[in-house]
Amino acid sequence: MTQPYNPAEIIRPEVLALKAYHVPPATGMIKLDAMENPYALPLSLQSEIAGFAGNVPINRYPDPNATDLKASLRKALAIPDTMDLMLGNGSDEIIQIIAMATARPNAVLLSVEPAFVMFRMIAIFANMGYVGVPLKTDFSLDLDALLSAIKQHKPAVIFLAYPNNPTGNLFDEKAILQIIQATPGIVVIDEAYHAFAGTSIIDKLEQYPNLLVMRTLSKLGLAGLRLGMLIGRPEWLSEFEKLRLPYNVSVMTQFITQTVLHHMDVLLKQAEQIRAERANMYAQLKSMDALEVFPSDANFILFRVNNASEIFQKLKQKMILIKNLDGTHALLDNCLRVTVGTPKENTQFLASLHAILSEKV
Ligand code: PMP
Repeated sequence: MTQPYNPAEIIRPEVLALKAYHVPPATGMIKLDAMENPYALPLSLQSEIAGFAGNVPINRYPDPNATDLKASLRKALAIPDTMDLMLGNGSDEIIQIIAMATARPNAVLLSVEPAFVMFRMIAIFANMGYVGVPLKTDFSLDLDALLSAIKQHKPAVIFLAYPNNPTGNLFDEKAILQIIQATPGIVVIDEAYHAFAGTSIIDKLEQYPNLLVMRTLSKLGLAGLRLGMLIGRPEWLSEFEKLRLPYNVSVMTQFITQTVLHHMDVLLKQAEQIRAERANMYAQLKSMDALEVFPSDANFILFRVNNASEIFQKLKQKMILIKNLDGTHALLDNCLRVTVGTPKENTQFLASLHAILSEKV
């Protein structure tokens, strides 16, 4: 007879209490839920990749240091020479590495709320304390509340997304700098949506020794390849490198990303198109009566309706998938988030939303 094993006696209680990160099925749907770039690569670039993909040495482990890829990234993203660069299997993995490295007994990870949910989840994964300081109702930083939370909790690490997800806004840079100066720990500015914002804190790395900047290629068009990066001083990154699993960036990711980076102009042009579509979509959402629309510096738009769950379901019936944030935080009551898609997708979304709102009157 086998022994009766009970996961509740083996698995950590905070893990038992977690709900797994839910990714809804999207087959056949207009997918506007996950901040992906909706555009494919040009055919010429697709065939260039197809041409070498068969020859990629998949029988060998990838270069653990991704030396060539890092050199290309430094050039393409204008990373300062004095700073180190660490790569992750998406920026999700980098958040996890930072949390593992800073999770001393009683250490706290601090962020704002609402923010990217993985900040809180990964704090729990790493057995850290988590403090979420609410944003103001206009989604700006509550600097007084943040400074007093920093004083009280002395966080080992603060994560701020710039622009923020799911609200889409950029925080005030002066307030961010005050936070960086006030904290005894490190501050990671997550610039996942940098391509759509036109601003960065990267030029402050020299001045602030506890500042780190995180980027990803996911929103720029390479979400499927999974490549995130951390930029900062060698004294921090050499410690984080010890926790990075040696082959975390696959050989396919290394080869394909390098090729795509030689055509960075393609991705940047697509980001430009997304920004233009965002302005268009924002204006059209603004013109609808029953909505409150929030300004965005990212590739998505947050808006408030009267009955978010009903509208979300009706859009889903019309094969349009967006993100329902109702119930996830008090400040997101009846809020929905839509990713900017292609002009055709956006038109379909706007027409469907308009139809749903009209039938409700
Ligand atoms: N940071 C923010 C603010 C995000 O919104 C996301 C994705 N939704 C990520 C990080 C993770 O991106 P990835 O792991 O694909 O690099």
